[in-house]
Amino acid sequence: MTFGTFFVPGPTEVRPEILQAMTQPMISHRGSAFRSLFERCQTGLRTVFCTKRPVFIATCSATGLMEAAIRNAPTGSVLACVNGAFSDRFSLIAEKCGRASERYEVPWGEAHDPATVAARVSAGHHAVVAVVHSETSTGALNDVRAISDAAHRAGAVCVIDSVSGIRGAELRFDDWGLDFVFTGSQKALALPPGLAFGVATERFLSSGDRTARGAYFDLAEFASGAAKGEAPNTPAISLYYALAAQLECILEEGMEAAWKRHGLMAAMTQNWTQRCTVHGIPMSPFAVLGHRSPTVTAIKLPDGVSGEAVVKAVSAAGYTLGAGYGKLKDTTIRIGHMGDHTAETLDPCLTATAEAIQKLIGKRNLPSV
Ligand SMILES: *Cc1c(COP(=O)(O)O)cnc(C)c1O
Repeated sequence: MTFGTFFVPGPTEVRPEILQAMTQPMISHRGSAFRSLFERCQTGLRTVFCTKRPVFIATCSATGLMEAAIRNAPTGSVLACVNGAFSDRFSLIAEKCGRASERYEVPWGEAHDPATVAARVSAGHHAVVAVVHSETSTGALNDVRAISDAAHRAGAVCVIDSVSGIRGAELRFDDWGLDFVFTGSQKALALPPGLAFGVATERFLSSGDRTARGAYFDLAEFASGAAKGEAPNTPAISLYYALAAQLECILEEGMEAAWKRHGLMAAMTQNWTQRCTVHGIPMSPFAVLGHRSPTVTAIKLPDGVSGEAVVKAVSAAGYTLGAGYGKLKDTTIRIGHMGDHTAETLDPCLTATAEAIQKLIGKRNLPSV
């Protein structure tokens, strides 16, 4: 299989050599070979998060670290910023972990207002703000730096889900003074699913109630493991091999270049919807202008064209797109332009998608877009 056909916004396409790296033999996770593998991963991950702090590596899907974010946060109520399906999940996790919580909801596709976050934290005496950086269900991007600053001004900490953000959208853990940020392996890092990564400040780690942390997601365990070059439990060693191989390429490209490449792909996708509209296929990015994610675009389809039909037609042309998510399933499609994709791999996918939609709406004679 050549690379460049799979545009689901998670899991994303993984290059064959990275898949190949996973076939290396097992090693003991309490031995020196694993410790050196762990150290190599640390160096790369610190660059990815723009931090000098240890990066915790959890063997779980990213939802595991959503739960860890809530369980390890200081006691008190949570203000959950909700603007899509994943931020809704964050809010539900806070409830399921027994936290008092309040939702700050804005319409799907919009972003949260930092000043409102500060006001709601003060009014509700919240201890924690939970926010999603790149809402993968809608393609909306939150200004997590401003939201975190607003939370701090009002006396709360801010936990950030950057699962589809990290590596594609700028995020600087140390410089921005963030508290806890996490991501998953299968989005812009272009690895198979199964690992999640998080960074916390020393203050965040010591602020929570130990008894609320549970066992598997007690970040104190990750911190003491990291100090020894180890994971708390048996890690997914094969995925660490893939991670180490992929981090070499990520470091080689550099973070700023990666952010730029993702921004370019998002702009390309947005321009393409405009061109399609001019050519009789009315489409637009679902997220509001000024708050669009560089890694994923949810696209509002022409009336009468279903998301399912588009995904099916594009698949017949050899490309896999993401279906709309949750309540947007019928009216949108999602293009995951993240990970190792480039303008060159994205371009033919957009062309094939336009052609498929043209056929579906029966305007066969339109000029090609
Ligand atoms: C994919 C995703 C998650 C959940 O990740 P899993 O690995 O499926 O648990 C959470 N938040 C966001 C924003 C995501 O894109």
